[in-house]
Amino acid sequence: MSESFAESCRAKTSWKHPYDELKRCITSTDVLWQQQQTREQKAAPRQAAELPLDTGRARLVVLGTGWAAARLIRDLNANLFDFTVISPRNHMVFTPLLASTCVGTLEPRSVALPLTDIQPQLKQPQNKYYAADAVAINKDTRTVTCMDDGQRQFDVRFDMLAIATGSQGSTFGIPGVEKHAHFLRDVANATHIRNHLITNWNKANLPTRPQEERRRLLQIVVVGGGPTGVEFAGELSNFISSDLMRIDAERARDIRITLVEGAQLLGSFDARLREYAARKLHNQGIHLVKSMVKEVKDKELVLQNGDVLPYGLCVWSTGVGPTDFTTSLPFAKTARGRIAVDDCLHVLVHPHKEDHGPQSPAEVKHNTAETHGHSSNDDFQPLDNIYALGDCCANVESPLPALAQVAEQQGRYLAKQLNRAAKAEKAGQEVPKCEPFKYHHLGSMALVGKGSAVVELGDPKGGRLISLTGFKSWVAWRSAYLTRLGNVRNRLYVMLDWTIALLFGRDVSAW
Ligand SMILES: Cc1cc2nc3c(=O)[nH]c(=O)nc-3n(C[C@H](O)[C@H](O)[C@H](O)COP(=O)(O)OP(=O)(O)OC[C@H]3O[C@@H](n4cnc5c(N)ncnc54)[C@H](O)[C@@H]3O)c2cc1C
Repeated sequence: MSESFAESCRAKTSWKHPYDELKRCITSTDVLWQQQQTREQKAAPRQAAELPLDTGRARLVVLGTGWAAARLIRDLNANLFDFTVISPRNHMVFTPLLASTCVGTLEPRSVALPLTDIQPQLKQPQNKYYAADAVAINKDTRTVTCMDDGQRQFDVRFDMLAIATGSQGSTFGIPGVEKHAHFLRDVANATHIRNHLITNWNKANLPTRPQEERRRLLQIVVVGGGPTGVEFAGELSNFISSDLMRIDAERARDIRITLVEGAQLLGSFDARLREYAARKLHNQGIHLVKSMVKEVKDKELVLQNGDVLPYGLCVWSTGVGPTDFTTSLPFAKTARGRIAVDDCLHVLVHPHKEDHGPQSPAEVKHNTAETHGHSSNDDFQPLDNIYALGDCCANVESPLPALAQVAEQQGRYLAKQLNRAAKAEKAGQEVPKCEPFKYHHLGSMALVGKGSAVVELGDPKGGRLISLTGFKSWVAWRSAYLTRLGNVRNRLYVMLDWTIALLFGRDVSAW
């Protein structure tokens, strides 16, 4: 409220009907405030407040705070750049441990790494973090248009831009998935799944629920037999046998977990490990069903083979596809809708045609190869100040899978290239040509239940491969992820959570 308006309100408030007068003033102030808000929202995007501090350094704008962006921000030499980070999340999620947070083995804060721990220089006045979504990029004016959670827009100027906005769970156009199934992509999803699980467990005990409804509430369907689906099913089975059995054995025995996979269980692992995982899951009472899903309804899943599975909770983990933001960008895309990049992660554009590939996730054909239509970067032109890294991009000449290790290696690579170029420029030397990005596959791991995992170390294409199963692989799984967690604080949280779960069991409160 402006001061003059407030004063006039005070002056007009008579002694006769003070309450009515005051109420009228407050109401009209509210209306004025709302009108101003609407005007502001409708106005053109506002330029993000320029800082009074001009360091003269180039401004790098980073979109996203996932694996790729976090590594890039961490490794950047903050004395050579000013940077702005834009992402709705002010933390990085350590995704390999996310399945453990769905059943309370780990607490959400343990797998969320705060941005300022990753790059302490973000606290400097010339660097900024904006909690917003990027909604558009203009390569000519060098601006990113962003939107906050109140749908208000603002523009951020860049000299260099790194797009690392990741991917999203793919529905393959199957009806009902978006509406009824739970995706497992970040901490909020995991918390939601955990609450849903415990709520159903509690509801199933109510005398008001008929027997059939009780059975449905205790049915959990996991769709997707990749590492995430398998780990979630394994964690769940462990939670039921260790913790829920202690609370109410009869109800716990009625819980049924079904894992639905249309192709191979853990398809990227070698046959021996796949067989071991299937046996292990089966022995833990998990029903393995080979079928494609036709439709997800409110309370049941319809399979292609005609079977109908009633469920209380359905978790969807069948692979990833591009986001609306990625497909909306005016850059070249691969056939699967990822931003096309060259060997140095420069974003590519088509020089003549307006052929930008899929314009929305719905246009993506998942059964086509990434390279379909274009198999060479010669068809495109690179933009020298815009880069893409992580799940949101692919090089059509050598597309890589959507993996944390790819994203992290690309973040490390880009930081090195940018630091090297900026150092040379500062010293007045010729800027060195970029060295092409090379990916080194370190291996794959998946937890398959209590004290058991499958681990593949090395690159199957390189011919050097070590396969481990059982308890030693479980120890390797735990140690690998503990050491890879970015900071000491999160390592301590994880060790503490594991110890508490071992000594006292997991927490089964829902809120
Ligand atoms: C449950 C789970 C388990 C996994 N386990 C493994 C594993 O064991 N090993 C492995 O290698 N890989 C694993 N992955 C895959 C791995 O997590 C991804 O490949 C990796 O996260 C990709 O990193 P990224 O930086 O490209 O994207 P992400 O890590 O997804 O980060 C994307 C970031 O962009 C932000 N963002 C999104 N849209 C916008 C926008 N419009 N504007 C601004 N910011 C935006 C998001 O908030 C987020 O911060 C797992 C994934 C999941 C979901």
